[in-house]
Amino acid sequence: MADAKIRLYVDHPLGQGQTVPLDRDQAHYLFGVMRRGKGDAVLLFNGRDGEWRAQVEEVSKRAGLLRVEEHTAPQRMPPDLWLLFAPIKKARTDFIVEKAAEMGAARILPVQTHFTNSERIRQDRLQAHAVEAAEQCGGTFVPQVGDLQKLDEVLADWPEGRKLMFCDEALAGAAQTLAGAGGDSWAILIGPEGGFSEAERERLSALPFAHPVSLGPRILRADTAAVAAMTVWQMTLGDWA
Ligand code: SAM
Repeated sequence: MADAKIRLYVDHPLGQGQTVPLDRDQAHYLFGVMRRGKGDAVLLFNGRDGEWRAQVEEVSKRAGLLRVEEHTAPQRMPPDLWLLFAPIKKARTDFIVEKAAEMGAARILPVQTHFTNSERIRQDRLQAHAVEAAEQCGGTFVPQVGDLQKLDEVLADWPEGRKLMFCDEALAGAAQTLAGAGGDSWAILIGPEGGFSEAERERLSALPFAHPVSLGPRILRADTAAVAAMTVWQMTLGDWA
């Protein structure tokens, strides 16, 4: 029996003896691509019940059935960190979502700012990238990727108690700002290729929950900035500290 190196996210309850049906894509990946078969082991997680080892019970071209055997890891929730970013070119937007999922974002919100080039995103494709990143990185949690929303609307409906790490190349250093602010519930905001408009900067800087930060003296691409900002936050306030 091949040892369980394959991890699959399933939107299905998981528990001792539970049978889990595979959808067409999962069956194709497990049996067609990874050449697994009856009796082989697979690691499953659903974002709520931790990780379980399951065994392949039934194999077919377009479906399959697994039986859950053993709990292999507890559910580990990420810190309460959201990533808000202005979508950029498709491949780089995919990269931002993938890195945010690997680095411990609890929620990923694409936001439309004044200079955002993309009018729309493929939420289902971005969610699939988040799932793949969780499967690859050993996580048991998959962040929800939201639909594209106007930044103004997100800010107008901002949840009580959540702080905003507003990444803007014009401002003070990140680490001391975060350490000084403290708190558990945060969001990071990364602007588009063209940066934030003056009107957005003024509005954001006036918000009581917003903490403007710099990510160093060089202007980073938005995807680089997303990774850098998550690194600084995780090192200072998150589950890397
Ligand atoms: N404003 C620049 C311009 O117009 O060329 C570039 C914007 S940059 C490509 C995209 C986003 O990354 C910015 O809006 C900001 O959120 C973040 N960013 C990039 N470099 C940064 C830095 N040194 N400090 C803080 N944020 C930065």
